[in-house]
Amino acid sequence: MAKRDYYEVLGVEKNASEVEIKKAYRKLAMKFHPDKNPDNKAAEESFKEASEAYEVLSDPTKKQKYDQYGHAGLEGAFGGHGFSWENFTHANDFSDIFSGGGLGSIFEHLFGGSFGGSGGQTSRSGNRGEDLQISLSLTLEEINKGVDKKIKINVQESCEQCSGSGSADGKTQSCSQCHGSGQVRQISRSLFGQMQTIVTCPSCNGTGKIIKNKCLKCGGDGRTAKTKTISINIPAGVSEGQYIRLRGQGNRGKFGGQNGDILVLIHEKEHDIFERQEADLVCDYPISFASAALGTEILCPTLSGQVKMKIPAGTQSGKVFRLRSQGLPHVNSSYHGDLFVKVRVITPTKLSSEEKELFQKLIHFDSQHKLLPNKSFFSKLKDFFV
Ligand SMILES: [Zn+2]
Ligand SMILES: [Zn+2]
Repeated sequence: MAKRDYYEVLGVEKNASEVEIKKAYRKLAMKFHPDKNPDNKAAEESFKEASEAYEVLSDPTKKQKYDQYGHAGLEGAFGGHGFSWENFTHANDFSDIFSGGGLGSIFEHLFGGSFGGSGGQTSRSGNRGEDLQISLSLTLEEINKGVDKKIKINVQESCEQCSGSGSADGKTQSCSQCHGSGQVRQISRSLFGQMQTIVTCPSCNGTGKIIKNKCLKCGGDGRTAKTKTISINIPAGVSEGQYIRLRGQGNRGKFGGQNGDILVLIHEKEHDIFERQEADLVCDYPISFASAALGTEILCPTLSGQVKMKIPAGTQSGKVFRLRSQGLPHVNSSYHGDLFVKVRVITPTKLSSEEKELFQKLIHFDSQHKLLPNKSFFSKLKDFFV
C-alpha cells in the first residue's frame, strides 16, 4: 500500500506552523486513542499513522528531509524497519494531550516501558513471538481498590523435547545462504539510486543455522503450547478499554526469537447501584414524600461501605448531593472523584386507608402552596424536549 502523505494524514497545509501541526495531531490522537477504541485495529493503525506523521513533522530535521525528498528521504530514519512505537519521542507530551484521567501512565503500560525513549530495545528480530490479548472483567469495587488477578492463558513456550533448539538430535549446520550471519543484503532502487538494505535471511529465518533433523514435537521452531498462570497487578482507578502490557510474557519467538507481550484489556462490569462518570460515581436514592418534606438522615451506599448523609427539609425530587472523595481514585494518584447522589421522591402507588386519609387532609393545603406552572417551568420543559 502506498504511504499517505504526512500532511494529508494530519489534515494540515504544507506551510502549517508547529502549533497547527500539534493541534491537528492532538485532535486525531483523541479520536483514535486506543482507550476510546478498544479492539479496533483500524483505529489503532490510524493512531499509529498519525503518530508517525507527527513524529516527522514536529522534528525540524526530519521535516526538512521529508519536504525535500518525500518518504524516500526518511528511509532508515526509524532503524530500517519503518516507524514503530519505540520511535515515538513525544510520550511526555501525552500527559498534556490527554490531560486528566491518568491516561499518560496507562500509555506507559500500553506501549511498554521503552516508550518515551528510555531505550533498551535494540533490534527486533523477525522471529519475535506473537502478542497475546486477554480481556479482564472487573467490578467497580475491584477498580476502586486495585486488585491482583491470576489468569490462565495458553502460551507458546520453549519445547521440552529439544530444549527450544528445534533439532531432534541437537545438531545444526551453518546456513549456506547467509554463511551463519542470519542476514542477507538486498539491493533496491530508490531516488538515490541503488540502495543496499540488510534483511533477515529467508533460508534460516535469521538464526544462521539450518536444522536437518527437525524435532518432531515442535516441528523445528523450538516452541510448544502450554497453559500458564500469570499474575496481574491492576492499579486502582483503571477504566474500560485501557490495557496493561506485560512485557515478554507472550508467545516465545520461533527459532529462539524474543518473547511477545500479553495485553490485558480492562473490561468494567456494570454495577447495580453506581454509574461511573470518569472518576465520579452517580447513584439514585429513593426517599418518601414525608422524608423530603420534613428532612431526614440517610445511609448512602459507597463502594467501600456506607456514609451518613443529611437530606434537608423541603428537598425536591432530582436534587443532587455531592459526597466528596467517595468516587474512584485516579490511576497513580491519591486524588479521588466524588459520589453524586440524586434524590428521587417516590410517589406511593398502594395506599392503606389510613394513608389515604392523611393525603386527603394534605390535599386541602395545595391551594395555599400555589402550585402553578410559571415561565421558567415552561422554558425548562422546552429545553427538555430540544
Ligand atoms: Zn541463513
Ligand atoms: Zn522441539
